[in-house]
Amino acid sequence: MEGKIAKIREDAVAAIEAAGVTLADLDGIRVKVFGKKGELTAIQRGMGKLDPAERPRLGQIVNEARAAIESALEKKRAALAEEALAAKLAGEKIDVTLPGRREPLGHLHPLTVTMERIKSIFMAMGYSVEEGPEIERDHYNFEALNLPKDHPARDMQDSFYITEDILMRTHTSPVQARTMQAHEPNSPIRMIAPGRVYRRDDYDATHSPMFTQVEGLVVDKGIRFSDLKGTLEDFLRQIFDEKARVRFRPSFFPFTEPSTEVDISCVMCHGEGCRVCKGTGWLEILGAGMVHPNVLKMSGYDPEKVAGFAFGMGVERIAMLSYGIDDLRLFYDNDVRFLHQF
Ligand SMILES: [Zn+2]
Repeated sequence: MEGKIAKIREDAVAAIEAAGVTLADLDGIRVKVFGKKGELTAIQRGMGKLDPAERPRLGQIVNEARAAIESALEKKRAALAEEALAAKLAGEKIDVTLPGRREPLGHLHPLTVTMERIKSIFMAMGYSVEEGPEIERDHYNFEALNLPKDHPARDMQDSFYITEDILMRTHTSPVQARTMQAHEPNSPIRMIAPGRVYRRDDYDATHSPMFTQVEGLVVDKGIRFSDLKGTLEDFLRQIFDEKARVRFRPSFFPFTEPSTEVDISCVMCHGEGCRVCKGTGWLEILGAGMVHPNVLKMSGYDPEKVAGFAFGMGVERIAMLSYGIDDLRLFYDNDVRFLHQF
């Protein structure tokens, strides 16, 4: 009997102290020894059948075994809890020497950057920035700009019609008429209208059916062609090169009279002649002119009392010349290898 108790005690303590024991294992050992059908429980139950003289001595041996096993269980349980806590703390430790993680940030598209530069130059001159709908009425896109239905100049701006009367705007000029109509007649205006415009066109290195324009309009008493020249020379030197030469060539637009094309000396060769300027030394940058009296009249302004000038430019062209980009389509491909460079 004594040997049997000693064996139970030895086996249990060895099992408890074995490597890799878990809390669940400890519960299993406890049940195996002390449970209803446990090894020590069975012995205690059998004590009644023993010789009364033997009972106290064996009872003490059982109690000692019980105490030893319980103490071993308790010690192991405490050790496991401590290990678990240490592991948890180690897992949560912050290593301040690890390199930081860089968040991949984007940046503004080169067209947006160019647009912002154009806007900031004109805003510094006191211009407001006006917006209008990209889906426009024929009236605002053409008729209010002195382009009646049968006007041949409409052919140059063939558009995407949605209905007979509604189309994708072919220029941002409708915003000029809308702005004039929103003002008291003959009150001064100094505005630019940036935005997307749409024309039925090819899609190649220099054409796209969708592109971006900025138009400007100044109306006030006594506005003259020299105001137009001074303003546009100043703008072009700020956006390209303060030493750039600017020239004005006579041209035709239905909504201005007189009209002019504005060139600057080539930003690549400075007038020597190169591939970009096709050997001429000049780059065509924008169209402009004195607002046609009919355009003023149609928006409720009196051409006898006020005069104005207007201008328009393609933002893509200015961005291409600023950055040395030779294919318009690169702006719309959204290839990050291209966009990354700006
Ligand atoms: Zn050139």
